[in-house]
Amino acid sequence: MPKDVKKLIDGFHKFRNNYFVKDTELFEQLTSGGQAPKTLIIGCSDSRVDPALLTQAEPGDIFVVRNVANLVPPYETGGKFHGVSSAIDFAVNSLKVENIIVLGHEHCGGIYALLKGPPEQDGFISSWMRIAAEAKIEVLSEMPTASYKEQMTACAKKSILISMENLMSFPFIQERLKARDLKIYGWFFELEAGRLLEFNYEQKKFIQL
Ligand SMILES: [Zn+2]
Repeated sequence: MPKDVKKLIDGFHKFRNNYFVKDTELFEQLTSGGQAPKTLIIGCSDSRVDPALLTQAEPGDIFVVRNVANLVPPYETGGKFHGVSSAIDFAVNSLKVENIIVLGHEHCGGIYALLKGPPEQDGFISSWMRIAAEAKIEVLSEMPTASYKEQMTACAKKSILISMENLMSFPFIQERLKARDLKIYGWFFELEAGRLLEFNYEQKKFIQL
């Protein structure tokens, strides 16, 4: 067996020992009572930014959707394969989560593809990243001479805001926001410094948590 796969299986045995041997209560409760997470996290597929690891969440704490560059598509209907939207639908309408966090990060490969990729490219990633096209346009017009790193960071943060706006385009989310029983957060994980920032709605910028 490849050692990378063996490592994962060893990890599972550690997990099993913690939750099924030493402490059986949590999973008994999660199995009989079902899951009732209060928070939906929309994160990137990037191996370095696992929402459960970053937040040290326990099983049952967070409902998670991960995709390239933690994007939320705008609300649209019409028979396509809406993986992200169906997870949002389930989290908001069935699980009744009270918080939605869009979790972006530094050095994101999806953001790199958006910012630096050839415009004529026609693969799954470039097509998906079109959700955040406005972030690229703004960054290139607002900071054309900034360093590559600054542009990447600005683009990642702007794309988080686009996803937050797109969340608000879902009618059932608008209803819950109006009823004040749902909150939307934008988080940004700085890989280099190991810091977590949150978008502050009043100051209109990301502040360290
Ligand atoms: Zn990423």
